Amino acid sequence: MNMECLMSRDVIVVGGGPAGMMAAIAAAESGAAVRLLEPNERLGKKLNITGKGRCNLTNDCGFEEFFENVPCNARFLYSAYAQFDSVCVKEFFSDEGVPLKVERGNRVFPVSDRAFDISGALEKRMKRLGVRVIRDRAEALMFQDGCLSGVAGGKGNYHAGRVVVTTGGVS
Ligand SMILES: Cc1cc2nc3c(=O)[nH]c(=O)nc-3n(C[C@H](O)[C@H](O)[C@H](O)COP(=O)(O)OP(=O)(O)OC[C@H]3O[C@@H](n4cnc5c(N)ncnc54)[C@H](O)[C@@H]3O)c2cc1C
Repeated sequence: MNMECLMSRDVIVVGGGPAGMMAAIAAAESGAAVRLLEPNERLGKKLNITGKGRCNLTNDCGFEEFFENVPCNARFLYSAYAQFDSVCVKEFFSDEGVPLKVERGNRVFPVSDRAFDISGALEKRMKRLGVRVIRDRAEALMFQDGCLSGVAGGKGNYHAGRVVVTTGGVS
């Protein structure tokens, strides 16, 4: 096994939606050198149309109520939510200078009613942490000596010992 790629600080995140941007931020905050691949000119393209352009970014409720309202396979979310719950989400965006409000049904929105403020805050945090955004589409994972060694993109190859795939789903 190629230990060099496992020891590398390099992380590639594939996809610049909210999941990819949060993953890039978390990796960079842990000391990784992060590159994010996204073919679209704008990051968070889908995020920017959510909640009719206002972005209902979380719900202001406790653990039990939150999980009662997850329609299926709620257990899948336990571990992630235990580490980063809706209080953390609200703190994250408030710290980035995005004031939030709570509406009917405990739905949380930016006071500005602009989803762009949410994607903008994520981009701002990534920039501060030195995450490099590369306008490219990932085409395949690369392997060397049985070990993950990076991502092959349309415009070039990107070497890294760790790859996070956050390419979303169909709308
Ligand atoms: C109309 C609508 C309204 C919604 N409203 C809300 C709401 O109010 N609140 C809410 O929480 N959720 C809402 N959602 C759901 C929300 O949009 C998704 O849950 C969220 O966008 C998922 O984020 P993601 O990062 O996983 O994926 P996405 O946002 O889909 O991002 C995936 C990214 O990966 C990129 N990508 C794909 N393939 C590749 C590749 N091969 N190489 C590189 N990059 C690639 C794509 O270009 C994209 O930018 C709504 C969805 C829709 C469609």
